[in-house]
Amino acid sequence: MFYKEQLKGNSYEGKTLSFTFDDGPGETMGDQTGPKTVRIAQYLYEEEISATFFCVGSTILKYPDVLDSISYYGHTIGNHTYTHINMVKGLANGEDILSEVSQTTQLIQKYSPEHIMFRAPWGQWSPEVADYLNDTIANASSYVGPFYWDIDGSDWSYWLKNKSAEECAIRYLADILHEDKGIVLMHDSSADNITAKNNNLCYETIKILVPLLKKLGFKFISLKDFYIRK
Ligand SMILES: [Zn+2]
Repeated sequence: MFYKEQLKGNSYEGKTLSFTFDDGPGETMGDQTGPKTVRIAQYLYEEEISATFFCVGSTILKYPDVLDSISYYGHTIGNHTYTHINMVKGLANGEDILSEVSQTTQLIQKYSPEHIMFRAPWGQWSPEVADYLNDTIANASSYVGPFYWDIDGSDWSYWLKNKSAEECAIRYLADILHEDKGIVLMHDSSADNITAKNNNLCYETIKILVPLLKKLGFKFISLKDFYIRK
C-alpha cells in the first residue's frame, strides 16, 4: 500500500546504507559523460551490493533492454511515475496520477511480480495522494512506499556545473558519515534537465565511493531486503 508518511532508513542498524538511483534508465556510448545505468548495475553486482533503480516509465520505453540488465544483476526496479510528475500538484490539478503510476507498473511488473516499490518524483507526497491511490489503483496492496531518503548529496547539481566525480563523491561521503545510515539518493540520469543528464557521472562517482565506504566498514542492504524480506 501507499503510506501517508514516506519511508526512510531511520530504523537501519548503524553503518548500513541502501543505494537508490532515480530518473533512469539511460545509456551512453564509451567513456564520455552521461547516464550509464547498466554499468552501475554491473559494478554494484560485482561489489555484491543490491540497489534499487526508480525508473521513469516514458524513459524505460527509450531503453527497453536496460531493465533486463538491471534485473539480471540482482537489483530492484522501482516505479518513479510515467512522466516524472509532481503527484501533489497533479492531484490538485485533476491530472491522471493514477495512470502515471499504473502505466509504469505495467512496464516493470514482470521484474517484480509481487511488490512494486514506489518513489514520488522530488519526494512530493501528501496523505491525500496516498488515500487517492490506495482507493483507486488496481492491487494497491502490492505497492510499497513511497520511499524517501536520508542522504541526498545533490549529485545532479554537480553535473549542472560540470564538476568531477571526485567532488561529488567527497560530498556524498561527508553526508554519509554525518548521517551514519540510511537511504542514499542518487540519479543515474535526469528526468528534466538535459545538462544534468549529459554531464552525468553517477557511475564514476559510485566507483570512487563504494571502495571508500567498504574500507570505513559500511554495509549495504537493498530496500526490498529491509522492508519486505525482514
Ligand atoms: Zn526523480
